[in-house]
Amino acid sequence: MPLRLIRPILLGVLTLAFAVAGCRVSQTPADPAVRAQRIHDRFLSIDTHCDTPHNLARSDWKAGEAHDAATRGGGQVDLPRMKRGRLDAEFFAAFVGQGQRTPEGYAKARQAALNQIEAVKTMCREYPNLVGLALTPDDALRLKREGRLIAFISMENGYPIGKDLSLIGDFHELGVRMMTLVHTRDNDICDSSTDQQDPEDAGLSAFGAEVVRACNRAGIIVDVSHASDESFYDVLRETAAPVVASHSCARAVCDNPRNLSDDMLRVLAKNGGVIQICFLSSYVKATPPNPDREQALQDLRKTFGSFRDIRDEATRIKVREAFEAVNRKYPETRATLKDLVDHIDHVRKVVGIDHVGIGTDFDGGGGVIGCNDAGEMFHVTEELLRRGYGEDEIAKIWSGNTLRVFRDVIKVARRLRADAS
Ligand SMILES: [Zn+2]
Repeated sequence: MPLRLIRPILLGVLTLAFAVAGCRVSQTPADPAVRAQRIHDRFLSIDTHCDTPHNLARSDWKAGEAHDAATRGGGQVDLPRMKRGRLDAEFFAAFVGQGQRTPEGYAKARQAALNQIEAVKTMCREYPNLVGLALTPDDALRLKREGRLIAFISMENGYPIGKDLSLIGDFHELGVRMMTLVHTRDNDICDSSTDQQDPEDAGLSAFGAEVVRACNRAGIIVDVSHASDESFYDVLRETAAPVVASHSCARAVCDNPRNLSDDMLRVLAKNGGVIQICFLSSYVKATPPNPDREQALQDLRKTFGSFRDIRDEATRIKVREAFEAVNRKYPETRATLKDLVDHIDHVRKVVGIDHVGIGTDFDGGGGVIGCNDAGEMFHVTEELLRRGYGEDEIAKIWSGNTLRVFRDVIKVARRLRADAS
């Protein structure tokens, strides 16, 4: 071919090559942090479990102010940090620890749950430009479009309903859209995965089965985190709608009774449900004991007493510096963000991408090195990108799967109510 013909072709090819390269640079920047933040701007992100309402109920703590997770009492979730971490939505759990199963105990628990539900609503009223209460998936998507953060309300522990099934409808009326059936000890509904006092696993009670059906009718997502293995299988047999494990990990990766075995994952996937990977270090990775660090921290406590009780700022600074020195000398053996994403990898491998999400347990013990508060949430996406996850997979993990369950739960509730009338 003559040169005068080759030259324009060559030029054309080169121009096209540069155009493609240029395009790639603008669409997928090399920096995973930038890519991650762009993904978060486009897709809704949901954390299905935090225990922040106990902070919301405090008089000396404001959800609209940014706090520091390293400061005692600062907590891990507030509205400015949700913004910074590109976390759109939280399920704020009204958590009540298991107490006496007596009329007095139930009444006290009910009041504690009501106070926390009210605290979430008060936050929404105090910061209407920053956050709104969501009762449905569509509410959440609308708030995202409006540039506002999203507050869902859940309940951790079914203990506050006592023996009164009608309260499930009442709590739904108040805005509760997810219920963790049990906490660390057995209750009237079912047995817990961690009740040491009664090692026998009786699973779901007859009353518990009614609770599951009542949640199905009301349109409340049933949450099996904290439930014992028997309870898990019983709930999965009983429920008419998909369920979630709002904050649990994979037992094959970290052997802990709070985590789900591969068989449980398969049963959950068959139900259409989702496991929301929890950030609580001992569920993520069994770390070796660190006696030197423990000793150094104990010495600190002996010298200065409880940090919470120190009033003068100079001593506080001194203690913080001493604490940081311990951290440098004997680094903490907490699980890392990479360990956490190993659980996502595992669930994807065993049951596929449609059954995994995120449930941090921030302000309830959650937090790993690399993602220790709401302000660091998009780091999870960075790690997923590094491992080659596609954007649609990341969108499913952050909200697609959870919203699918939520929509199914609402659909089933409508059908059950229509069948009953
Ligand atoms: Zn929990």
